[in-house]
Amino acid sequence: MTSILVLGDIHADINAISRIVQYVSALGPDVAPTAVLLTGDFVTCAMPHRKVTPRMARAVVRAVDIVLDVLGVPVFCVPGNHDDPDLWNADTSIRNVDVLRGNAPAMCDGFRILGVGGSWSLGGFPYEWSSEDDVFTAVMQIDVEDRKREILLTHAPPRGCKVDTVATGETVGSAAIHRVIRERSPLLCVCGHIHEAAGWGVCGSSYVMNAGALSAARCTYRSRGGPTAAWAVDSTAWSACHFAIVLVNDDGEPPQVLEAFEDPDGWKARRLVLRDGRVHVVGPQGVHRQRPD
Ligand SMILES: [Zn+2]
Ligand SMILES: [Zn+2]
Repeated sequence: MTSILVLGDIHADINAISRIVQYVSALGPDVAPTAVLLTGDFVTCAMPHRKVTPRMARAVVRAVDIVLDVLGVPVFCVPGNHDDPDLWNADTSIRNVDVLRGNAPAMCDGFRILGVGGSWSLGGFPYEWSSEDDVFTAVMQIDVEDRKREILLTHAPPRGCKVDTVATGETVGSAAIHRVIRERSPLLCVCGHIHEAAGWGVCGSSYVMNAGALSAARCTYRSRGGPTAAWAVDSTAWSACHFAIVLVNDDGEPPQVLEAFEDPDGWKARRLVLRDGRVHVVGPQGVHRQRPD
């Protein structure tokens, strides 16, 4: 059994990662992580009150590396649109698997992790694509080896799979990522970026998890003038964090998921099973509090 800890967009919340690591370290050996996947956005590139310098960004990546090192497992990431895509010249053991930057897919416990960093152009972010077609072409140049053992780690969600809907009701996800998933049919696509659309979806025969933002305070972005406009952070929001552990194996059993949220009363968890093109909640029921909108 391979146990993959998925953490959503970090946005410099090192404290939240520390609390998650503390909680995960106390879980039983049946769900102890084999690897960690990070969906990117290590920093927020243009907060109103300060500009993120390369030195600050490297410090955040290094801090994430140090905190996750406690788990003693490999950590894989893609840079988000807020990240300098060349940041990984830094001294870190976090492995950047972004194939758009020339990185090879990574093998982990028999599963192949193929990454796609950045996002479609919003205007002015450090890592934006010039064209969706170029993204599709670049990813499809990599041969599919075993669809059932491929995990696609992207920052941007696919278009139209229930994990890309913004406050206006529009679906803003990437058509290229959608096409990549339909063509490659990976077991799983893990993404982030559209924080308010965190959750599960299905794309063809693949399951899609938008991990959203690691910290709920950063889930409550509100659009100003539509999905291509700037986002405003609601800094007064509840600041709890969340994570998921995806359990996969090669014996034909459907993937299982443990999702956990921290709220003011402590951690709440639930289990899901990914089966027959649907995401089934198998328990425990009634203890899972939704994140605030
Ligand atoms: Zn993003
Ligand atoms: Zn983000």
